[in-house]
Amino acid sequence: MGLLDHGDFQSELSAALGTPQSAGAPFAVFTIRLRRVRRIRLALGDAVADSLLLEAAFRLSTLIAGTSMAHLEGELFCFYRTQSGEDEARQFARELLAAFHTPLHTHGMDVVIGINVGVSIAQAGMNGAQALMRQSRCALDRAAAGGEYSMEIYTPRLQASAARRLTLEIALRQAIESNIGLSVHYQPKVGLTSRKLYGVEALCRWNCPPLGAVPADEFIPVAEESDLIEMLGWRVLDQVCQQLLGWGASGFVLPCVSINLSARQLSNSDLPSKILQCTSRHGLVPSLFEFEVTESAIVEDINVAATTLARFRSLGFRIALDDFGAAHSNLHYLRKLPLDSLKIDKQFVDDLSAEGKGEALCRAMFLMADMLKLPVIVEGIETEAQCATLSRLGFEWGQGYYFSAPLPSEALAQRWLTRR
Ligand code: C2E
Ligand code: MG
Ligand code: MG
Repeated sequence: MGLLDHGDFQSELSAALGTPQSAGAPFAVFTIRLRRVRRIRLALGDAVADSLLLEAAFRLSTLIAGTSMAHLEGELFCFYRTQSGEDEARQFARELLAAFHTPLHTHGMDVVIGINVGVSIAQAGMNGAQALMRQSRCALDRAAAGGEYSMEIYTPRLQASAARRLTLEIALRQAIESNIGLSVHYQPKVGLTSRKLYGVEALCRWNCPPLGAVPADEFIPVAEESDLIEMLGWRVLDQVCQQLLGWGASGFVLPCVSINLSARQLSNSDLPSKILQCTSRHGLVPSLFEFEVTESAIVEDINVAATTLARFRSLGFRIALDDFGAAHSNLHYLRKLPLDSLKIDKQFVDDLSAEGKGEALCRAMFLMADMLKLPVIVEGIETEAQCATLSRLGFEWGQGYYFSAPLPSEALAQRWLTRR
């Protein structure tokens, strides 16, 4: 198995594109990223990681049989296929993903690694080798955002969205470093019938003068895919601590504030103690804080997540499982993770109006949480009818526009907090 370097591969690709046979024929360039190798390197050492890379490269070369392949850097590989239009390329990319569900064998271990595939397709006579490689790399970046086994084919729209992401990343970095434009809004979690306050969820807001108010759904993924989410997390925690002190000084009482944590934050095993240092510095007790984690944040390694979450709880913080049912709905998580509450995803509420099924699923969810003695907060309640149905099914707590949108701190205090 001969692996080319970046330069040699690009020259070979240029030559192949220039041959008379390829004029007008479709041509696909594939860039592959093997996932988890970096973590395996950290956990099991260089020898295991290197031999795993070799095994993976060998598997790839068998699949692409006969064509040249480049090892671009680290976990990145690249190859091309002639006579390959979009449909064929998509089918082949799927075969690659499927092939990596089978474990690789090294040092007496079976190891499963993830794989992302980015593909660019040559339009007749249009794209040079360099552009094709850049485009398939751009598609790869999008594929990586889709999970451990996903692929993407380059389109000009992808390029536009890659440019937007880059703009956002640069502006967000400035905002975080200067601490300008970031704020926190608070959404109450409320008793469906009692209207009692269970707590509030802190939700980050970003207003950036040239871009306007960027939705959290857009900038949080950008932060998560770069190294920004950790710094952003500290900014949010700091603002929340300041706010709790401010509310306290004005005589307002608050049962608990929830803060969202992303996967990358959770992978830092020092996180619980660092957060404790921060809350203690502000003179705030841990029981005031709950941390919301999503299923996708813990899916990478449930044992590591369970240990970190247990550490949070041993320090006196509370833990909520967010968006339950949105992705994997893995009941194993409920058994394995130390949790204080479960947040049921908005999609179940949206389905309530659908014939039969929505209500049956909510009822099942309620019974399951009730048996596990887990308090449940239903997310995304927008109408009185939804609130009434959920309350009839036995749910006690909810969150959603029907009660209140996320509010700036003053409005939240005015409408929802009581004074001592
Ligand atoms: P999430 O934690 O599930 O937060 C709930 C999201 O649903 C919020 O969106 C909230 O504004 C929205 N929402 C609440 N009630 C309703 C409703 O009745 N209808 C509808 N359609 N939406 C409702 P937001 O603020 O845009 O945040 C989106 C996501 O971004 C959050 O989902 C959370 O995962 C993430 N996020 C927000 N702030 C932070 C943060 O400080 N750190 C981290 N790591 N993630 C954050
Ligand atoms: Mg949340
Ligand atoms: Mg949620």
